[in-house]
Amino acid sequence: MSRTFYARGQTGQQLLLGAYQALMRQVNAGKVKLHTREEMLDLVMKDGEAVGIVCRNLTTGDITSHSAHAVVLATGGYGNVFYLSTNAMSCNVTAAWRAHRKGAYFANPNMTQIHPTCIPASDEFQSKLTLMSESLRNDGRIWVPRDRDETRAARDIPEEERNYYLEEKYPAFGNLVPRDVASRNAKDVVDAGYGVGPLKNGVYLDFKHAIERDGADTIKAKYGNLFEMYERITGEDPYTTPMRIYPATHYTMGGLWVDYNLMTTIPGLYATGEANFSDHGANRLGASALMQGLADGYFVIPYTIGDYLADKLNTDPVPTSDEAFKVVEAEVRDRIQGFLDIKGTKSPDYFHRELGKLVWDYIGMARNAAGLEKAIGEIRALRDEFYKDLKVLGTSDTLNQSVEKAGRIADFFELAELMARDALDREESCGGHFREEHVLPDGEAKRDDENFQHVSAWEWHDADTPQTKHAEELTFEYVIPSTRSYK
Ligand SMILES: Cc1cc2nc3c(=O)[nH]c(=O)nc-3n(C[C@H](O)[C@H](O)[C@H](O)COP(=O)(O)OP(=O)(O)OC[C@H]3O[C@@H](n4cnc5c(N)ncnc54)[C@H](O)[C@@H]3O)c2cc1C
Repeated sequence: MSRTFYARGQTGQQLLLGAYQALMRQVNAGKVKLHTREEMLDLVMKDGEAVGIVCRNLTTGDITSHSAHAVVLATGGYGNVFYLSTNAMSCNVTAAWRAHRKGAYFANPNMTQIHPTCIPASDEFQSKLTLMSESLRNDGRIWVPRDRDETRAARDIPEEERNYYLEEKYPAFGNLVPRDVASRNAKDVVDAGYGVGPLKNGVYLDFKHAIERDGADTIKAKYGNLFEMYERITGEDPYTTPMRIYPATHYTMGGLWVDYNLMTTIPGLYATGEANFSDHGANRLGASALMQGLADGYFVIPYTIGDYLADKLNTDPVPTSDEAFKVVEAEVRDRIQGFLDIKGTKSPDYFHRELGKLVWDYIGMARNAAGLEKAIGEIRALRDEFYKDLKVLGTSDTLNQSVEKAGRIADFFELAELMARDALDREESCGGHFREEHVLPDGEAKRDDENFQHVSAWEWHDADTPQTKHAEELTFEYVIPSTRSYK
């Protein structure tokens, strides 16, 4: 049995290339105009409807408006709230968060996915983590030494002194357990002091047996490019030394609430792909994110958006000279200037790293009420410090990544607090959300379908008033949820 279908860890990339090609075809046909190096910093609304966006040109700092009959956000997930993640460095929540502040409900924000198969951080200044493909668990065996104080190289540790903890604990699924189960178990053994590597922050993913069974050539044909990538990053050869892996933030199931037409609670504002909350529930399965993005983009939104646009036939979009645009442009400029004017002592990266640690420690792979309450207090205190002691060098009328980061981190603060509130409210363990108080006698996740079989969609009020929760009940007509056992 395999955990996932794969083609040399390239399936995702091939899907992306297909999507890029389709986009560029439309650009070439004159149907799509690209505005590269522009970042949406706010949504413009008039009479309760989305009518456009305000952007900052990242190279010149110019603030410009774009007007339209409808707005579609395809701005991705918010995994970088954890600071360290497998996401691209520029991924952030600002577009979705600004829409949330204008009235779009934000659903299931605490539902984040921590991928078990990433390369562990090699020092505390690292700013990005690398994902190794899900496919590796098809053949790799995960283990840690049985002795916490083990100092021998992995290959010198005899079989009987190795703890293949997933195989022992989950004999039915072994190393193929779902991502959340594999991640939590890696955290457990590392927290218990059994971690491997210089920082003792990883577990072994070993191909020794697969190579003995299938031969090095077969393994190379399957995973050769991944092994090469791993070796380039770590300097270790996975054909002779087990890989070291550890979970890292990878995907966010939460996002803007949308209906079946992919429209948010703001008329005329749509959200597609990872930016919305739909399809994945509490835990995304491997390889399904791009399929959702492709389905949203190719098969859903082209057919549903017309329903809204039909009423706008023969009307012009609100012009960007309208007061509605001018007000938001002024707000965006003031906000950026506000960050420059603080003139404190700490960089945006400092605050991002500190925030990420709080999110990872208290709203990460395992949460509990005391930790979540603590997180809310500490996130607020750090946010206050941010607005008093932030230092953004340079000016806003040029390429200035500190300016870009300051705005994104400000939004991450508010998002992080909502993630904690959402996790605190959900008194059950479910998918990526594991509450330590809610476990079965064998330590596995305990759902509470009677009280929590719903989507939590949060409504914004202001930065100092907690959001209001709206529960959207989930009705299962054909597939009835059951508790799975991987043992
Ligand atoms: C390393 C890695 C490997 C993965 N592998 C797979 C896989 O094999 N299969 C799979 O199904 N999924 C995979 N995923 C998940 C999948 O790639 C993502 O969920 C998917 O790309 C999300 O697509 P999207 O278009 O919704 O968002 P994104 O691809 O994140 O695109 C969002 C875009 O919006 C831009 N943007 C963000 N904010 C703004 C703003 N304010 N203004 C302007 N632009 C903005 C971003 O720069 C980005 O270009 C992987 C993810 C990672 C990180």
